[in-house]
Amino acid sequence: MPTIPHTLIAIRALTHDVFELVFRADIAHPPIPWQFSMFSLPSGLRRAYSVAWHEHGELTYIIKRLEGGPGSTEICGLTPGAEVAALPPVGKFQLSEGDVSRCFIGTGTGFAPLWFQIRSALEREDSSPMHFVFGVREARDRFYQSEIWELSEQYPHFSFTQYLSREDIEWCERWYVTDPIGADLARAYKEFYICGSPAMVSDARTQLEMSGVHKERIRFEQY
Ligand SMILES: Cc1cc2nc3c(=O)[nH]c(=O)nc-3n(C[C@H](O)[C@H](O)[C@H](O)COP(=O)(O)OP(=O)(O)OC[C@H]3O[C@@H](n4cnc5c(N)ncnc54)[C@H](O)[C@@H]3O)c2cc1C
Repeated sequence: MPTIPHTLIAIRALTHDVFELVFRADIAHPPIPWQFSMFSLPSGLRRAYSVAWHEHGELTYIIKRLEGGPGSTEICGLTPGAEVAALPPVGKFQLSEGDVSRCFIGTGTGFAPLWFQIRSALEREDSSPMHFVFGVREARDRFYQSEIWELSEQYPHFSFTQYLSREDIEWCERWYVTDPIGADLARAYKEFYICGSPAMVSDARTQLEMSGVHKERIRFEQY
């Protein structure tokens, strides 16, 4: 499949090490939630990044610049106007059809595909309950807080809990995103979507299954 030029039109720091990058690209088909783009960076490295949003031919990505990580450092160091080649978004993750209650569990940049899915579902007027459990380490690692809280005010059937694993502050739960998983959560939602580090995804899946959630009700991605 041929690559498509992606022009960086905006980059902003969301935290000390997480960046939002908006590219303009002439892709034939609009991406769907959970799809990712494979970038071929100027150095020759190839790295996958999940699409966090798509609108008017602009693709948004949320990327963590890892210390000593060559690909993430390179892409987060681009400046507006830079052109990078990428394959059109791919990913065969199947979304279930219909209006079903959903719980989204994510950590770090696992936020990107969940955010795309939550926003898309709310904008197409999916009216079933949706809950988003999102975790980072410390208060300074949080991002998109006003965007998420605005959605929860606009859509009463959408709720949000921010977890911090290493800091105690008002409005946030102190512990891991797996903490609320139990029989009550298992009963409250029909489907569970998980994205984040392999350790978190594995723990969340195990706890959901132990709480009575059948495998088929759980969809996940880890990176
Ligand atoms: C389908 C898919 C979608 C992805 N979507 C995103 C996304 O939306 N945003 C994003 O930031 N990354 C995403 N990634 C991860 C991304 O592709 C790179 O692996 C990441 O940017 C690290 O590349 P690097 O070259 O900087 O570091 P590497 O040299 O690849 O890794 C450096 C070190 O960091 C570890 N590491 C790799 N990824 C992470 C991480 N996310 N957090 C902590 N440690 C890590 C590695 O195990 C290694 O030890 C995705 C990966 C896949 C497979």
